[in-house]
Amino acid sequence: MTAASAPILLTPILLTPGPLTTSERTRAAMLTDWGSWDGSFNALTASLCDKLVAIAHGTGSHVCVPLQGSGTFAVEAAIGTFVPRRGKVLVCVNGAYGKRLAKICEALGRDHVIHETGDDVPTTPEAVDRLLAADRAISHVGLIHCETSTGILNPLEAIAAVVARHGRALIIDAMSSFGALPIDARQIPFEALIAASGKCLEGVPGMGFVIARSEALLASAGNTASLALDLRDQHLYMQRTGQWRFTPPTHVVAALHEALLQYEEEGGLPARHARYARNCQVLIAGMAKLGLRSFLAPEIQAPIIVTFHAPRDGRYRFTEFYEAVRAKGFILYPGKLTELETFRVGCIGSVGSAEMERAVDAVADTLRAMKIETI
Ligand SMILES: *Cc1c(COP(=O)(O)O)cnc(C)c1O
Repeated sequence: MTAASAPILLTPILLTPGPLTTSERTRAAMLTDWGSWDGSFNALTASLCDKLVAIAHGTGSHVCVPLQGSGTFAVEAAIGTFVPRRGKVLVCVNGAYGKRLAKICEALGRDHVIHETGDDVPTTPEAVDRLLAADRAISHVGLIHCETSTGILNPLEAIAAVVARHGRALIIDAMSSFGALPIDARQIPFEALIAASGKCLEGVPGMGFVIARSEALLASAGNTASLALDLRDQHLYMQRTGQWRFTPPTHVVAALHEALLQYEEEGGLPARHARYARNCQVLIAGMAKLGLRSFLAPEIQAPIIVTFHAPRDGRYRFTEFYEAVRAKGFILYPGKLTELETFRVGCIGSVGSAEMERAVDAVADTLRAMKIETI
């Protein structure tokens, strides 16, 4: 079935890196109201945190600290909580989220140094090794696992080993990879790993969380100048009372919990990874047939989001292209590169290869209707 003959979709499919398409069952979980003091909601939060720690294989060594807000709130909370005021962060940058991490250090008054590579160049363990050897003042390394601004994958395991060998602490922004790409706390030493409800776990947006090494979290007293973004305090209060310190995003928690039950039923991380990898393959192969090339080399492409070169044809306008594809039921994402005209298509969310094929059909029909040449 081509997109043109497909039924009109009431709600478009989001091929974006969060918010993303959720299952009906996840959305239905938001039809109940929860009291924030109620035992049943506290049990839901506790169960959620246990599941999240288990995904990272951190049971016993790590705890999950949930936090109200979007993912950036949790990144800012992690930097403020874990980096001492006299600490120094090596920020590895190859896209917008790395730059945002540096901006957070700046805003919080944490000394930092930026190691920047091109948008299509992963951070290497060799570079981190050299930089840590040269500057003993660096206490923490901040790394984006999958840099969502292009979809590039940074070699987390090798970098984590280098950071550990130098006796420094690692803070991982795993926002767009957690739950889909393996991160095993038993093998990858980290102080804090940050992710959020509305990405690969397929919940709705509104809650971030930090998987923290328990000892490091307890030792972080006095670092942050923030009340609301103090992860240690959030954790201790929750441990004592079972409750969130301030009004919890109840519906978001309920939706994420339901999404995690489906995650387990699907087969956990290996199944989620396999589905996204298939989505990514179907997408890249289908677009290649239309003459649309992806920006990254296959070996550094994470199966999360794909950046495509825009057609060079002068008749191409992103907004017109976007609206036309949207009318066929799919929401694409603009590019985030300053030098190159690109657009992005997400592979994550409650979608499979059938949806990816229909999205490629929608793009094909749109290019034809706009009379855009791609070769
Ligand atoms: C989504 C995302 C964030 C958080 O962004 P918000 O706009 O706060 O949701 C941070 N880092 C990465 C790599 C992300 O993909």
